[in-house]
Amino acid sequence: MPFESHLQPLELPEQDISSFLFNRKDRPFPEDRVIFQDADSNSSFTFGELRALSAEFAKGLQSLYDFRKGDVLGLFSPNSIDTPAITLGALWAGVIVSPANPGYTVNELAYQLKDSGAKAIVTQLTTIDTVRKACAKVGLPEDRILLLGEARDQTGRFKHWSSVRNISGTSRYNKANISPKKDLAFLVYSSGTTGTPKGVELTHYNLTSNILQLNAGEYGNLTWDGSGTSGDIPLPRKGSGGDKILACLPFFHIYGLTTSILLPMYSGVKIIVLPKFEIEKFCRLIQDHGITYIYVVPPMCLLLSKHPCVERYDLSSIRMTNSGAAPLTRELVEAVFRRTGIKVKQAYGLSEASPTCISQPWADWATSIGSIGKLFPNMQAKFCAMPGSGEEHDSSSKATEVAQGRTGELYLKGPNIFRGYHNKPEETKGCLDDEGWFRTGDVGHIDEHGDIYITDRVKELIKYKGFQVAPAELEGHLVDHDLIDDVAVVGVESQELGTEVPRAYVVRKGGKKAVEEGDGERIVQWLNGRVANHKKLRGGVRFVDAVPKSASGKILRRILKEEARKEYAEL
Ligand code: AMP
Repeated sequence: MPFESHLQPLELPEQDISSFLFNRKDRPFPEDRVIFQDADSNSSFTFGELRALSAEFAKGLQSLYDFRKGDVLGLFSPNSIDTPAITLGALWAGVIVSPANPGYTVNELAYQLKDSGAKAIVTQLTTIDTVRKACAKVGLPEDRILLLGEARDQTGRFKHWSSVRNISGTSRYNKANISPKKDLAFLVYSSGTTGTPKGVELTHYNLTSNILQLNAGEYGNLTWDGSGTSGDIPLPRKGSGGDKILACLPFFHIYGLTTSILLPMYSGVKIIVLPKFEIEKFCRLIQDHGITYIYVVPPMCLLLSKHPCVERYDLSSIRMTNSGAAPLTRELVEAVFRRTGIKVKQAYGLSEASPTCISQPWADWATSIGSIGKLFPNMQAKFCAMPGSGEEHDSSSKATEVAQGRTGELYLKGPNIFRGYHNKPEETKGCLDDEGWFRTGDVGHIDEHGDIYITDRVKELIKYKGFQVAPAELEGHLVDHDLIDDVAVVGVESQELGTEVPRAYVVRKGGKKAVEEGDGERIVQWLNGRVANHKKLRGGVRFVDAVPKSASGKILRRILKEEARKEYAEL
């Protein structure tokens, strides 16, 4: 039997995101509540300003660029205080937002622009060269490039988003008529269980559901006016203006997008926008703004536990921290707490689930360390026999469940599970069944208290500091290298960086005997010049006689990962 959430099911409205946020009858905070404040310039946006700006930008998209429901807008930018209005504006017009990592190379961005069918793209001046080249590759005209952020284009060639309004002033342009369960809000990219990155289709209903689930998963602790209930955890300091979040996760990743743009528009909790994570600035902002809550990834916890600058700042305003996107060890949670007094709870999610599904209740942060927590409301989970065990399917060809406490592959079902991969029905079928069960590719178990543990991953995916690296993508590049006959890429743990890093196992042309000094480094440098920073071969190259493969030709990555583990154990 599948496991249910211990929380009461929520009533989930069928509304598009704009109506859900802006027409809400029970909104607890006022229209002039500042929701987003820039960490550097102190410029800010209130809830009411965002309502007005997003509708104006939407009408500009409709009137100047002929955007219609279902068209796609690309977003390629470091975190900016402008991102919420642009995102909410696009959604108002029924436009699908497809954010990309601003560290992407020209080819990586061109791939996403083409695959998503983006009709325009919003970027900053700092990334304009990459965008221009990528647009040229996919035939997107330059007048479809818009700018956000402080810096304007002095040549006048690229319009700033804030000048894109319904300048004709006609009322011809209206809010799109959206079917929340069918129409898409976001197209984010993930490699899923196998292969290269695919567009993950997330509907309006997926996102409104996850906003409510996330809100419920904070158990009323996180509030705009500091009135939350918190058990043993102190409330925000009196007169400090309620809870405040430092947005240090990238808005282009669904974890940052939901927790630091959409959820605050619902809860009214104030966000201080940090364009780029940098440990000293991060600590200074926590101290100066009296930050009470932060969403982080494990490598940020590693810095909190080790970096010398941390001790120079007063971080005592932090009530709770949430770590997600990659595994977090018990040792790290304890080290952060010992050194800084900061409590870190864990959550788990995936792009395909909008993303968060499971989270540790605040009250459990110290009692279930190492667990990713309990199921969100309206969600079900089951653990099934591992691929390759020979017991994957029962007689009705459904995935075979394992008993409570036993290790298996995690399957999830709920209102936040995606619609499918964009234009990839076969890949969708491979992980989403007719009953709505989604195969995550993650391995773990659930204990008698309903606490879930993730202990391994059966999918190919590598996570570098919470960012996805698809081995198939790197292998696709590497087979083109002159020295390489065959190759497999797997993730290996870097103790030093506190994250997985990609490593290539290479069959050299001419066999292992032909390996010369510097071959490995040459391959590393060659690949690193072709991919975004987070995909670099930080795990290096190992030369092998053959890549281990199954009879059907599938790379047996487990064997290579096991070899890497042994290598580290011997060090
Ligand atoms: P993404 O789609 O980029 O959010 O990546 C989702 C994947 O990140 C999951 O399938 C997991 O493999 C991994 N992940 C996310 N959160 C956690 C966590 N708390 N512990 C372990 N792995 C995680």
